[in-house]
This record gives sequence, structure tokens and C-alpha cells, in this order.
Amino acid sequence: KTTIRLDKLLAHSGFGTRSEIKILVKRGAVQVNGKTVKDSGLQVNAERDAIAVDGEPVRYREFVYIMLNKPQGVVSATEDTRDRTVLDLLDDGYVHFELFPVGRLDKDTEGLLLLTNDGKLAHNLLSPRKHVPKTYYARVEGAVDESDREAFRRGVTLDDGYVTMPAELRILSKGEPDAGQLSEIELTIREGKFHQVKRMFLAVNKRVVFLKRMSMGPLALDPDLNTGTYRELTTAELESLQ
Ligand code: URA
Repeated sequence: KTTIRLDKLLAHSGFGTRSEIKILVKRGAVQVNGKTVKDSGLQVNAERDAIAVDGEPVRYREFVYIMLNKPQGVVSATEDTRDRTVLDLLDDGYVHFELFPVGRLDKDTEGLLLLTNDGKLAHNLLSPRKHVPKTYYARVEGAVDESDREAFRRGVTLDDGYVTMPAELRILSKGEPDAGQLSEIELTIREGKFHQVKRMFLAVNKRVVFLKRMSMGPLALDPDLNTGTYRELTTAELESLQ
């Protein structure tokens, strides 16, 4: 697990594409344990071998964790034949990390999406048994009221017969449907069925017209991240997820 091709390690460390790295290695710029190597396909031990480029030690990292404020119109997939994916929003330097989104947001949903190549962390956050809470902000047609709050607290029956687990609804503002107003709410759910938030509102005859994820477990969307922008997690954020 700790052995890795030299070119991949250097690509992960920001030294360019595989072909650029091949040239770098060929011109004798790369040392492994103090000796110049010429084969970029060499297997090295990422923990034990000392890798250097032009004499400078390479700080290798295996995992990357990115907080993205997903915009509408891109899909939460690694590839798609028609649509742009969330990976298309990232700088080219991240390509070699083989990142993937932790869970999914609909194409028209905005907000917090974690991208990583740490499969174990992703698995822990997504495991249905862990019941990681996810909080969404939504604008909803019609007047969302106490009866909806009570229904979501008890569980509602979705169109496929599934009964949802208890969820917390916070009514931020109650719209007047006659005046064409929308209600603003926050909803926290502890599971992640397909289109869950939209379908929960449909179960009480209301339509979500805007949806944005604000948090996932201990991770809250950074208010300074404009839609479509991203940053790596801070050490504190990463520790909160472990
Ligand atoms: N619920 C939805 O309906 N859509 C999402 O993207 C996320 C939760």
C-alpha cells in the first residue's frame, strides 16, 4: 500500500503531468535515497524512501480533502457524457489524486460537497448506520407550518412507500401562498434517500424550488466560499471528521 510509482508520487506532489515528470526524471533531477534515478516508473516506498527533486525533499501526501460549494448545473459524478461534473471545477493540479464526491447532490442543488480520495473516510460519512446529520436550506412553495414540522418529526411516507426517519424542520420564514411567496426553511435529515428533501416536501404537498446543503456531520459550508469555488479542509475540520 505504501509502494507507489515514482511518477505518480511526484504528480501527487505537484510536479506536473506524468509526461512532464518523465522528462524531469530523464534529465537527472530526481533522487531516491540520495541517488539519481532515470526511471520514472520505479516503485518507491512513500514512507521510507527519501525522494528529492533538485536536492529538495518532496513532501508527499496521499489524501486530499476539498470543500466545494457546488453550483447548480454540474453533476456530482466523476464523469458524465453530457454534463459538466464537480471534478471539472477543480484546478488541473488535482487530477492525479483521483478525487470523488462523498455522496451526491442533485444537478440543481447547491452547497456543501466534500471531494476526497480517502475511501475510508467517505465510507464512514456515507454509512447508513452512522446516521450522519445533513442540514439543508430550502425555499419552498406555499406556507410551511407547524403541521409539516410535526410530520417530519414523526416521519413521512415517500412516493415509494418508504417512511423517513425523524427529521428536524426549522421554519425561517413562512410564505403567504396567495401573495406568491416562498417559505424558507432548514431541514436536518440523518439518511440520504434519492431526492430525499424534495420528496419529503412532496409528501406534504409542497414543492422545493431551491435547495442548498449547509452542513454534513461536523462540517459546515464556509460562508466565504462563493458558489463554484472550493478550498482544502483545514486541519481542524479534517480532525473533526476522523
Ligand atoms: N435532497 C434532495 O432532494 N436533493 C439533494 O440534492 C439532496 C437532498
